[in-house]
Amino acid sequence: MTAQKMTQPDVRHDWTRAEVEALINLPFPDLMFRAQELHRRYFDPTKVQISTLLSIKTGGCPEDCAYCPQSARHEKSVKAERLMAVEKVMTEARAAKAAGAGRFCMGAAWRSPKDHDLDSVCEMIEGVKSLGLETCVTLGMLDSVQSQRLKDAGLDYYNHNLDTSEEFYGSIISTRTYQERLDTLSNVRDAGINVCCGGIVGMGEDLSDRAGLLMTLANLPKHPESVPINLLVRVEGTPLGEAEAVDPITFVRIIATARIMMPESHVRLAAGRENMTDEAHALCFLAGANSIFCGEKLLTTPNPAEHRDRQLLSALGMTPMVQSEAEMGTLRPAVPDVAAYEAALS
Ligand code: SF4
Repeated sequence: MTAQKMTQPDVRHDWTRAEVEALINLPFPDLMFRAQELHRRYFDPTKVQISTLLSIKTGGCPEDCAYCPQSARHEKSVKAERLMAVEKVMTEARAAKAAGAGRFCMGAAWRSPKDHDLDSVCEMIEGVKSLGLETCVTLGMLDSVQSQRLKDAGLDYYNHNLDTSEEFYGSIISTRTYQERLDTLSNVRDAGINVCCGGIVGMGEDLSDRAGLLMTLANLPKHPESVPINLLVRVEGTPLGEAEAVDPITFVRIIATARIMMPESHVRLAAGRENMTDEAHALCFLAGANSIFCGEKLLTTPNPAEHRDRQLLSALGMTPMVQSEAEMGTLRPAVPDVAAYEAALS
């Protein structure tokens, strides 16, 4: 980031919860206008970064995240599987690349990885990178040595979500602390890996918790390069299987607020898109979302079929970002390209 950009008042790390609550509660047209203004200042609003997510080690997780069917502690959990073979991962990565993905994300249901597991994951990272894809993994908690090993293997992004506010966190997860989450984020940053970190809307949290999550994310020393905002997928047999549904406008407000607070970051629509209408998707893109997961499964929960995403993006006149555009947002000229606009109309 250049010195000039650091001085931009729209990139801040000193948000108060009251300010964030006020943003979320702005009249909808004003909130959307501010989000769009910033989105256009840093990104081409017609471009969407596309990632594919593969579960490389499913189920049997010792953690007790109340939303997750992979926890071994819930009434109904998905069947535990072993870590996938490297060659199988490579087959999936080639298919993802052929389908247009720019980033390949691999998730393992662990509290934290063991050394011999990291050997295999490092091999996967090296293999996926050799296909020309960006790599992201989510493996649970990492110490500084593990983070450095992943960096040395060429890892581009590490995903580790804060999920919710510090105050509400204990109602959702009891097997690790918020501070442990923050420590992993800091180890990953210190190793020079890009950070993917966001949360979930719809777990019974209130406005103050939603504001608290966004405030913590935006007040990190550097904004996460990717900010996934998930809409809870209510999975039967998990403690949140019967949680109250969140209305789409509330969700769009969180997307818009994330865009305003972290204007250089990719704001990703992650879990929960399967049941979202095309209109709700369109509003999320207008609010500044510019990244999605493609593929019919997100770890263990359903995701829209690829052809549905393709049709939707085409109907909206939007296209996938190419890798060079998928870097963190950079300040764009304030004046729109009028000539290109007129050419498009003629
Ligand atoms: S969210 Fe991750 S850490 Fe939590 S139970 Fe699921 S797999 Fe385990």
